[in-house]
Order: sequence, then structure tokens, then C-alpha cells
Amino acid sequence: MSDTVYLNGSFLPLEQATVPVLDRGFIFGDGVYEVIPVYSGHPFRLDEHLDRLTNSLDEIRIRQPLDRAAWRHVARELISANHHLQDQSLYIQVTRGVAPRDQAFPPATVTPTVLVMSMPLVTPPVELVESGVSAITALDIRWQRCNIKAVSLLANVLLRQEAADHDVAETLMLRDGYLTEGSSSNVFIVKQGKLLAPPKNQYMLPGITYDVILELAERHGIPHAVEMISEERLRSADEIWLTSSTKEVLAVVSLDGKIIGTGEPGPVFSRMYALYQEFKQHIMRTGG
Ligand code: PMP
Repeated sequence: MSDTVYLNGSFLPLEQATVPVLDRGFIFGDGVYEVIPVYSGHPFRLDEHLDRLTNSLDEIRIRQPLDRAAWRHVARELISANHHLQDQSLYIQVTRGVAPRDQAFPPATVTPTVLVMSMPLVTPPVELVESGVSAITALDIRWQRCNIKAVSLLANVLLRQEAADHDVAETLMLRDGYLTEGSSSNVFIVKQGKLLAPPKNQYMLPGITYDVILELAERHGIPHAVEMISEERLRSADEIWLTSSTKEVLAVVSLDGKIIGTGEPGPVFSRMYALYQEFKQHIMRTGG
């Protein structure tokens, strides 16, 4: 069965969905995106993802192409058109549209390009959850507006490839001696039983999963704080976790070839992983 996508107002098979070469997304990476996990047909935190999309669009001054009701309608339609997929990952991309190549914005009459597609949601297999993963560090070579979920991801691509070249799961980035995030995930550490997260600012993407983790910590009495994490604290952490919509929460047990904690996912991780799965089950049962 062929996947159905939404492109500029129409639902059509993936193979038939094409974009002109002068689309500014293709030419400049001039656009933003979202990735929304869908469990058993229920989008996870849809409103929060749509809020972040709205914010990304505002930040780069692309007018909102659809209102909230229309986004919800498209999401619902695509989820049911792709119901042959078990769990889904909804991908939304909006670019500034098609115009002759010029860096300055095109006239306001140019309509944004809107693509929504559904892919299989691939979460980490249980073996990886139980063993944890390895990661490396690198200088954060990205720009200063990492809070925007921009499709121009060249720095992230190069950083993530460094991880692939080292046969590890993720690259954790350091800017001016402080942890920012992973190339495609947020990062938490645990120090003496306390969960620590870097503050949201222009140097990291405000992760939807990041918020869920902090909410669960609050609700279940896990000591936690949001504060800058120095390289030294990162390297001497008892636990390091990655979080994202597709990775959920995953333990890092080796950093730059050095063991973190005991070399196995730690006790706070195990607790949070269980809480996260329980929370997901709740969403699947209740749809919200
Ligand atoms: N930071 C970056 C750079 C990312 O690409 C992602 C994944 N989109 C995240 C953090 C995690 O965000 P979320 O929890 O919303 O998936």
C-alpha cells in the first residue's frame, strides 16, 4: 500500500508529490518542520507541536499557512490514510514557497509550500534501552537560533555523521564549555540522584519530550533542576540521557570512549523510562 501525503491542499500518493526546483526549501533550506509521534492513531502532544511550529514560522516570518483546525484536520486525515502503519511519525514541513532565486524574501503573494507526510515511527528496541548507547562530544558549530526548528540542518547533519563515523548513537554538543543538546535530541544528566537539564534558550531546540520528562519528574517527586551544565559536570555525570520524540528516553553509558556511571543505564533512568512508557500507554488509551 502506498503512503499518502498532503501537499499544498491535496492528499496524494507519495510518488506523485513533487515540488518545483525553485522552492526556497530546496534552494536555501528556507523553511521549518515538525515531527510528531502518533501512538495507536493518537498524536502525542499535537497542540504543543503545533505551538512550536507556529513559533518557528513566526521566528522566520513565514505567514501561518493553515489555522489550528486545518492542521488538526490534515493530521487526522493522514493518520487514517496511513493506518496500515503501526505507530506513525507525522512530518510537517513549511517553506517560504517557490520564487526566482534571491535571498531576500519574495513578494507576500508567494504562498508557502506545505508538506505533511507520515512515516513509520521507529523507537529504540528494548535491547538498546537495556544496554544504553555510546555518544561523542563535539563543538556546537551551529548558528545562534537553534530554538527554531529549521530545515537547514547542515551542521546537525555533519555532527550526526561524526557519530555515525564513530559508530555511536549521538553527538553531544558543547558551546563555550557548556552542554547544549544532541544533534537530534535533548540531553539530561543525573548527578547524585538529581536530574539536571540545560535551560531553554537560543542554543537549543525546546524539545516536546524535554517538557514531558520535566513534568514527569515534577509529578513523581524526582529531584530536578534546570541549569547550565558545564563540560566537566557532563563528563562526571552519574547518568546521561537523550530525549526526543523518536528516541523517547535513552541512556548514554559511554562518552568519548569513557564509561559513564557504572556503564549501564542508571536507576533514575530506569524509573523515568517506566514512567514515560506508562504515560504513553495512558495517551493510547485515552487519546490525550
Ligand atoms: N534537539 C534537536 C536538535 C532535535 O532535532 C530534536 C528532535 N527533533 C530534539 C532536540 C528533541 O525534540 P523533541 O523532543 O520535540 O522531538
